[in-house]
Amino acid sequence: MLEEDVTIDSLTIKVLSYNPDADVELLRKAYVFSREAHCSQKRIEGTPYINHPLSVADILADMKVDVATIAAGLLHDTIEDTGTTPRDIKEIFGDEIAFLVESLTKLGKIEFKTKEEAQAENFRKMLLAMSEDIRVIIIKFADRLHNMRTLQFLPENKRRRIATETLEIYAPLANRLGIGWLKIEFEDLSFSILMPELYDELVRKVAKRKEEQEGYLKEVADAVEEKLREEGLHARVSGRVKHYYGIYQKMQRQRITFDQVNDVLGLRIITDSNAACYTIMGIIHSLWTPIPGRFKDYIAMPKSNMYQSLHTSVIGPKGERVEFQIRTEDMHNIAEEGIASHWKYKEKDAMEDRDAKYIAWLRELIQSQKELRDAREFLEEVKGEVVPEVVYVFTPTGEIKELPVGSTPVDFAYDIHTQVGHKCVGAKVNGRIVPLRYQLRNGDTIEIITSPSHGPSRDWLKFVVTQRAKNRIKQWIKSEERKQSSELGMKLLEVELRKHHLKPALLKTEDMDAIAKEFSMQSFDDLLVSVGYGKVSPHQVINRFLPEKPPEEILLREARPRREQKGISIKGIDHILYHTAKCCFPIPGDVLVGFVTRGRGVTIHRRDCPNLESLAIDNARLVDVDWKPGNETTSTARLMVETVDRPGVIADLSALISSVNVNISHFEATTTQDKKAFINFNLEVRDKIQLSGLIQKIAQTEGVLRVRR
Ligand code: MN
Repeated sequence: MLEEDVTIDSLTIKVLSYNPDADVELLRKAYVFSREAHCSQKRIEGTPYINHPLSVADILADMKVDVATIAAGLLHDTIEDTGTTPRDIKEIFGDEIAFLVESLTKLGKIEFKTKEEAQAENFRKMLLAMSEDIRVIIIKFADRLHNMRTLQFLPENKRRRIATETLEIYAPLANRLGIGWLKIEFEDLSFSILMPELYDELVRKVAKRKEEQEGYLKEVADAVEEKLREEGLHARVSGRVKHYYGIYQKMQRQRITFDQVNDVLGLRIITDSNAACYTIMGIIHSLWTPIPGRFKDYIAMPKSNMYQSLHTSVIGPKGERVEFQIRTEDMHNIAEEGIASHWKYKEKDAMEDRDAKYIAWLRELIQSQKELRDAREFLEEVKGEVVPEVVYVFTPTGEIKELPVGSTPVDFAYDIHTQVGHKCVGAKVNGRIVPLRYQLRNGDTIEIITSPSHGPSRDWLKFVVTQRAKNRIKQWIKSEERKQSSELGMKLLEVELRKHHLKPALLKTEDMDAIAKEFSMQSFDDLLVSVGYGKVSPHQVINRFLPEKPPEEILLREARPRREQKGISIKGIDHILYHTAKCCFPIPGDVLVGFVTRGRGVTIHRRDCPNLESLAIDNARLVDVDWKPGNETTSTARLMVETVDRPGVIADLSALISSVNVNISHFEATTTQDKKAFINFNLEVRDKIQLSGLIQKIAQTEGVLRVRR
């Protein structure tokens, strides 16, 4: 299809061909409006922008949708890219078209930080829009398809990003909605962009295989057709080729080479009734030997995207394998068009049951995504559960359950009820005990054995296949880990309280939720969990209970009075009791000031000690102090070192400090959530010169962010 050839006239002709009563005026109006709105824009390849909405509308017309959808397709980029407002659209084209255009605009608008987040969020928006009107997704599909077809004009990285998104989101979604041709085109276009060499190679090989086998397949097809005519059956036989990405997936999945893929080419028989499908299969099986295990009855048990068909492979003439798909016309339409057939002009009847199922699936997906906060989990869900091939099994009461292939008794148990899953300890299949990792087969009757005291095991995650089971097990494990962390956190806090001679009951009397908020946490339990995990230290929490002491009191209580006068002289006063302040740790070389305390002698501070600010109110109590020259003793200095939290940082610093003959009398370290460590050292130093030298060295150590006294 050449997009360049699409004009409003060719579009109108196409629409009239399947819908002779179509409102051609409306289409033309939408076209003119869109053309005017986009008149100053060009596509990246240099053609007028209107070519894009026209091509989108043309794709929609191929899908034989109603006129409103095609008009919305023509208008789909107007709000997003031009000065057009939703109100303009509403006034000119009415509510229905305005809703479609606006939904599409919303879908494309949001930008996100990460790719996965963007995909998940966009996908959710798409689902929400779809659940109101499925035509939104149909237009979005057409838009994406045209963009994919013209992707060669974009730069490599953009091209790959869009192709990946198409492959991961749009193709599975098209498949889930049963639009087979679209899924195939999405997959093959993405494949050709993401793995061009491989794609080209497959194109060559498939062409060669076709050349080799076409004559043979024709022979088989002729033989079948003749036999069917003899039996008086109406059917048409045609060749089908597996699409490239499908071949690639099969090679990957089964770890085989192209030569080993034997259903690249096959035959498709389309007939007029379900009964005829089975009859034809019987005829084929009587002509050639069927290959065991290759027969699939998707008529009796349709795939979850409503796909129906009989599949079988036989050893044909000359011993070559041939694969057959047998289906009715109606089944074929469903396989090709899926949910899109609902919006097909004049074909709204007899589809309701199927649509109800699609809508139910959508609702389920939207519902399940509410429970999954993590974008990645959500995407896994979308990718994982899109078109699972299913097994049908029975409950002991004969109720039928549909589960993905590979499901185990645990999946079955969670499908019944979350609690049945949690308490599941064993299972009987058809009356016999089986391991929990047993893979269910079609027709199995399953009885789950439960025990009230039992809980799920992490090992189950290795074999369950349904998202429901996975999510429930993960949730249970998370809440169990949380419970344990919370209990541990409580114990740690109690120990810390006792250390400060406080009673554990304090935790019950205080407003602990308010304290949790100070740590930016929702509740006390969250705080306990953080303490249990080691993210918050018990000391940090219990600190809040220790009374804030006025500076003087700190000095009185914590300073150790020293009687010896060596090293310090106080002008005008002799033989006085003094101690150095524990707030600023003065050392020889610092400029000092003394503060006369009541009955406790003089406290020596550094002149620049911040505590002095508050003490200095009473200037009369300050005295001048000097270091005596020739002082041989050491003094305690305190250093605060901020580092990145890496293993060995404390050892490195300790080694460095020892290397300059400085003693560490005490140190404590705390780490923060943003991967920083704060280390406090009490050091025995000679004087300020020695300390300054040391500070410089520490500052040069790898990982050190800041050093201060
Ligand atoms: Mn567009």
